[in-house]
Amino acid sequence: MLLRRLAHVIPRPYQIRTYSKGTTVGFIGVGNMGGHMASNLIKAGHSVIIHDKDTSAVDKLVAMGAKKADNPAAIAMETTTIVTMLPSSPHVLDVYKGAKGIMSTMQNNTLLIDSSTIDPAVSREIAAIVTDKNSDYLDAPVSGGVAKARDAQLTFIVGGSEDGFSRAKPLLDDMGANVIHCGGSGCGQAVKICNNMMLAVAMIGTAETINLGIKLGLDPKLLTDVLNVSTGRTFCSELYNPCPGIGPLATNGYQGGFGTKLMAKDLGLAQDAATALKQPTPLGSLAHQIYRIMSQQEYADLDFSSVFKFIQSSDNQ
Ligand code: NAD
Repeated sequence: MLLRRLAHVIPRPYQIRTYSKGTTVGFIGVGNMGGHMASNLIKAGHSVIIHDKDTSAVDKLVAMGAKKADNPAAIAMETTTIVTMLPSSPHVLDVYKGAKGIMSTMQNNTLLIDSSTIDPAVSREIAAIVTDKNSDYLDAPVSGGVAKARDAQLTFIVGGSEDGFSRAKPLLDDMGANVIHCGGSGCGQAVKICNNMMLAVAMIGTAETINLGIKLGLDPKLLTDVLNVSTGRTFCSELYNPCPGIGPLATNGYQGGFGTKLMAKDLGLAQDAATALKQPTPLGSLAHQIYRIMSQQEYADLDFSSVFKFIQSSDNQ
């Protein structure tokens, strides 16, 4: 505590950046993913202060012992450890740089961890401002989905300084199974958007393969069993199968999971990066178009594996 109070008078290279169980953690954005992540922090013994625009999401965590705050600025006044889990870049910019944003009241030596999937350039922009204020900002998007968020089994894909990473690791361990440092600011987001472009292409490929198999007269379960011991096997055929009767989410009407609109957003980020770097991503570009079209239809709020239904709906015979 004394070291934290003295943080503003000790030159940064000599500061001992402490972290311990029972730290007060601010958490902003307690939706599908953030709600479970904040709840795991409470279970791990932290005092958690939350803020979300959606009051119903807030009430659930208050019932578990979290304290609520009216805005991000109020959280930044109370604690020097803050996690954000928001939909996209504009939401993150609002929460950090808006009128009642974190930066308006941020204390010296604050640790900021953004687990939202956003544009790597926005992560780098925020990191530069935060570093100037003698604090740490990490981009730490996650892979794993809602079930792994609930079970504290997420993979955190982290960009930022070594010092910031060491400081954040024990906290991330309370919410995840894998915490991987990928390089400087923005590198976590870069890895994440590459992963999701590959995931979308694999999901569409799996969906159209099984649909074709059904039209060829095959039992989709038998086809899947063969694929899963053959060269066509993917994460999507084996663990996230988009065909009802095989994959659990597909069987459950594609409810919950990773939304089509969020996948369209991530594919847009990958396309922006590919355009800026003049790199060809023909399948990523087509996947982006498919998920954008789905986002205008009844698939918008369903899991992204509903692309199987979208492909089936294109059958005119
Ligand atoms: P979500 O929409 O369920 O939750 C986001 C929350 O942020 C909502 O409760 C919303 O009210 C809140 N919010 C938005 N703007 C706000 C603001 N200005 N101030 C305060 N609160 C605000 O989204 P999610 O599924 O939890 O996803 C969050 C992030 O995690 C996204 O970037 C997504 O791409 C990424 N992600 C999601 C999954 C998944 O399976 N859902 C998996 C990996 C990564």
